[in-house]
Amino acid sequence: MKSVPLRWLIVTPFIVLTLISGITLYFVSTITISNIANTVGIQYIKEVEGRIYDRVQNFMEPLSNIVDTNLHAFSHRPALLDDLTPIAGRFYEQATPYNQMTFISTATVDGRYVSSAQDPINRGKHNIAANFVHQPLTMEGFEYDPVNFIGPKILSDATFSYDPRTRPFYLDAIKENKMTWSAIHPYYGYPTLGIGLSAPIYDQKGTLLGVTATSIALRELDKYLESLELVEGAYIFLAEENGALIATSEGGELYRTTEGLTTRVNLNSHPNKVLQLASGQLATGTHQLNVDGQEYLYFVRAISLNYGKKWLIGILIPSAYHKSILAEYTQSTILITLALFLCTGLMGSLIAWYIGKPIHRLNEAANNKNITSIQQLPHPLSNIREINSLSQGLRSMADNLFDIMQNLEKKVAERTSVLQGENDSLLENSLTDELTQLYNRRGLKQVLEQSLGKAQQHHQKITLVLCDIDHFKQINDEYGHTAGDLALTAVAANLKNHTRLAEDIVARYGGEEFVLVFINTEVTQVMQRLNSIRDHFKSNPVVHHQHITMSFGVVHANADSAISAKELIEQADKKLYEAKNSGRDKIVV
Ligand code: GH3
Ligand code: MG
Ligand code: MG
Repeated sequence: MKSVPLRWLIVTPFIVLTLISGITLYFVSTITISNIANTVGIQYIKEVEGRIYDRVQNFMEPLSNIVDTNLHAFSHRPALLDDLTPIAGRFYEQATPYNQMTFISTATVDGRYVSSAQDPINRGKHNIAANFVHQPLTMEGFEYDPVNFIGPKILSDATFSYDPRTRPFYLDAIKENKMTWSAIHPYYGYPTLGIGLSAPIYDQKGTLLGVTATSIALRELDKYLESLELVEGAYIFLAEENGALIATSEGGELYRTTEGLTTRVNLNSHPNKVLQLASGQLATGTHQLNVDGQEYLYFVRAISLNYGKKWLIGILIPSAYHKSILAEYTQSTILITLALFLCTGLMGSLIAWYIGKPIHRLNEAANNKNITSIQQLPHPLSNIREINSLSQGLRSMADNLFDIMQNLEKKVAERTSVLQGENDSLLENSLTDELTQLYNRRGLKQVLEQSLGKAQQHHQKITLVLCDIDHFKQINDEYGHTAGDLALTAVAANLKNHTRLAEDIVARYGGEEFVLVFINTEVTQVMQRLNSIRDHFKSNPVVHHQHITMSFGVVHANADSAISAKELIEQADKKLYEAKNSGRDKIVV
C-alpha cells in the first residue's frame, strides 16, 4: 500500500470536512433558505388567509341558515304568513344573536312586509320594520315588544311608501325562482355595501306566497380586514370573481356614485398600484408580483359561500419581509458554522502540533545520516506518552549504536596498527635474505636504484662489486648443507664488517654470490676493503677449519656516468667471470 504523509492524514479530513460543510452551508443558505423563505411566506399567508376565510364564512353563514329555516317554515305552514306580527318577533329573535345581521325579512305576494332591521352603519339594537301596521305599504319602524312583538313606533317617515315587490331582493328571487344572492349594492340611504340572499316561498301546492330574505352590510368585513395586524407593506382584499372589491385592508371607498350612477370599485381601477396589478392574476394559487422593483408573494384563494356564491381572498406580502427574517437566521447560521470551522481548525492545529510536529522531528532525525541528530533530540520530545517513549527508544538505540561504533573504531585502529607492523616486517622480509640477513636480490634492486639515483643526482662516484665463493660446492659436498649455510653466514659477516653501515650496500645476490656497493668511495679504497676481506678469509676459517677464497668483479662508475643498475651488474658479472676463468681468488677491475 502506498504510504501517506502524516500531514495529509491530519490536514485532509479537515479540508474534506470544511468542503462538505461549505457546500452544505451554500445549499442551506442559498437554495434551502430561499425555499424556506417562500414556504415561510406562504405559511404566513395561509395562516392569515385561513383566519379571513373562517371569519367570512362565519359572517355569511347565518344568512343562508336563516333563509333556509324561514323558507321551510313558511312553505309548510303558509298560514303563518296570514299574520306577520308574530313573524316580526320571530325575526327579531333570529337576528339578535348576530350582531352583523342587517335584515331578516319576508314579503308576501300581496305586498306586506316585515323585517328585523338594524342600522347598517351605526349598529345598535335590532328593531322591527313593517309596512302593514298603520297603513298598507307605508314603511314604519318599531321597537321590539316581547309580548306584542311590534312595540312602540320609532320616529320615522310615515309617508315613506314601500312596496317590497318592486325591490331587487324580491324581483331577483322571483326571476331566478330559487334561492338567490342579490348583487352587492350600496344600501338605500346608507353609504355602505350590502348583500342579500332571498328565496321565493311556495306552498305545498306550488302557489307563490312571497319571498323571504336576509341581508347583511359588508362593512364589517372591510373593518375586519383593516383591523388585521399585518406585516408592513402587506395587502389583503376580498373581491368578487370579476375583481369587484368587497373589502380591503387598505380602507378607502368600495364604490363611487357619480351623477346618481353607482359603480363598484374594481381591483383593476384601484388607486393603490399593488392592488391594481394584483387584478392581473386572479387565478387561485401562489403568484409572484413585482411592483416597481418590490417583490410580493401573492396568494389567491376562492371562498365558496352557500348557494353558489364564490368570492376571492387575495393576500400580498413583500418578499423582503420574510427574506429579511431568514437573512438574519442565515447570518447566525453562517456565524455558528464559521465558529465551528474555527474550532475544528484549532483542533486540527493542536493535533498537528502535538502529534505531527514531534513525529516530523523524529522522522527527520531518523533519516539524517548523522547518528548524533537522534542523540540530540530534546527530552521530552512531546507531551504524548507514546511519541515520547518512541523518541526515548530511538535515543537509547542511537546511544548503543554510538558506543558500538566507537569500540569498533578503536578495535579497527588497534588491528590496523598490528597489521601495519606485520606488513612492515613482511616487506622487510621480502627484501632481506633470511639466512644472512643481508639484502636479497629484490632488496638490492630497490636500494641500488635509490643509491644510484642519489649518487647521480649528487655527482658522486659509485663502485659495484660482484663476488662469488670459489668452489663452494665442495664445502657442501664435504660437510653438508648446514655447514654450507654456516659458511655463507660467516662470509656475509665478513663482508658486512668491511663496509660502512650507513653508506654502503651488502647484498646476497643469489646462492654463494654477493654484491657490494660503495658510494663516493675511491677505487683504491674499495680495493683496500676487498683485500681486507680476502685477508680475513685467509686468517679465519668459515666452517670446520675450512678457509675459503672469493673472486671479485669490480665496476666503477664516475660522478657523471649515466649507467643503470642493470648495466652495472652485467659489467661486474663479466669481470667476475674473468676472475673465475683466470684462476679464481682474485679481483678483476
Ligand atoms: P666456482 O668456483 O666455479 O664458483 O665453483 P663452485 O662450486 O663455487 O660453483 P657452483 O656453481 O658449481 O656451485 C655452487 C654451489 O653453491 C652449489 C650449491 O649447492 C651451493 N649453494 C648455493 N646456495 C647455497 C645455500 O644457500 N646453502 C648451501 N649450503 N649451499 C648453497
Ligand atoms: Mg656461483
Ligand atoms: Mg662459486
